[in-house]
Amino acid sequence: MKARETFEQIRNRKDNAFNLRIRLMTMVSGEICVSVLLAYGASVGLENIFPYTDKIPLLARLIVISLIIGFFVTFFLAKWIFEPLSILSKAMEKVADGDFTIRISNKSSLKEIQEVYSGFNLMTHELASTEMIQNDFVSNVSHELKTPIAAIEGYSMLLQDCENLNEEQRDYVSKILFNTTRLSSLFGNMLLLSKIENQTIKTNQTWYRLDEQIRESIVALEPAWAKKEVEFDVELESVKYLANENLLRHVWDNLIGNAIKFSPQGGLVRIRLVRKDKNIIFTVEDNGPGISLEEKKHIFDKFYQADSSHKQEGHGLGLPLAKRIVMIAGGEIEADNTQNGGCIFTVTLEA
Ligand code: ADP
Repeated sequence: MKARETFEQIRNRKDNAFNLRIRLMTMVSGEICVSVLLAYGASVGLENIFPYTDKIPLLARLIVISLIIGFFVTFFLAKWIFEPLSILSKAMEKVADGDFTIRISNKSSLKEIQEVYSGFNLMTHELASTEMIQNDFVSNVSHELKTPIAAIEGYSMLLQDCENLNEEQRDYVSKILFNTTRLSSLFGNMLLLSKIENQTIKTNQTWYRLDEQIRESIVALEPAWAKKEVEFDVELESVKYLANENLLRHVWDNLIGNAIKFSPQGGLVRIRLVRKDKNIIFTVEDNGPGISLEEKKHIFDKFYQADSSHKQEGHGLGLPLAKRIVMIAGGEIEADNTQNGGCIFTVTLEA
């Protein structure tokens, strides 16, 4: 097997004697000579057509004409060399954002650029296959673990209802139940995320009332808000919307669930659903601790949890899942702080 080359070895490799550096030096020297010769020719020509130009010193004429010629030649040379580099840098930014589907086409006549482009395409191809293998692995593992966890969860629920358990046993059973419920929701979210991560087309579209769905979500979260005595201020316009109802449900559950989770005891959660121009805008606002600028950059990353005090209550998958679902629906989601320090999440969907 061929040993891997180190970065130094790659940098020092001289498999092409007429390498880019020498070619550039030749081109620039050639450009200077040609400019000076052309400038000299042009200056003599000008002298014949406009005799009064002979009063301007030859050196000054040469400098001005060389500069003009040099400007145009350098402009085209720079376009030839730097345009492919700027395309490459934009493609690199996409890769850094996690888009491994990007490929760049190979139209440059420079051999070095062609090599870089095909190396880049090979790299994104490899990254995409690795990501796919990883996703398949995560999805298989989650699927395999979901069934036994559901069985443990079911049996601990049955055990919890047994009357002949003492206090200590009851405590153990409720801890088992708490943790299996957490695991079960983690595997459920991982499975769903790996399923929709590469989905680009909209599936299972039906017309339904968005405001009704949001109301149902608030009602379903009753155990959480009742325990914290959180108050709601809800104003929802009646909106009929075409989307995957089951998927969008996760978005409202997560955003409203987070607003409750991060609200203080007796806090206030404000929810709005309005039509504005050609958009449907949903906002959920709380008076919790809000998010810092640094957190704002990462909250949509998988497994990111900024606030360690709530780690027990989530896995950092809710927001990436919500973002992906909203993107599939053709919308956008963003987070901000409110003036009174809380957090506001805005989902904008096309009407
Ligand atoms: P989790 O299940 O941990 O809540 P999410 O993906 O839903 O995962 O949220 C990721 C992180 O974003 C949270 O751990 C928290 O730090 C931050 N976050 C989300 N919603 C809010 C909010 N309403 N107020 C403050 N921080 C929030």
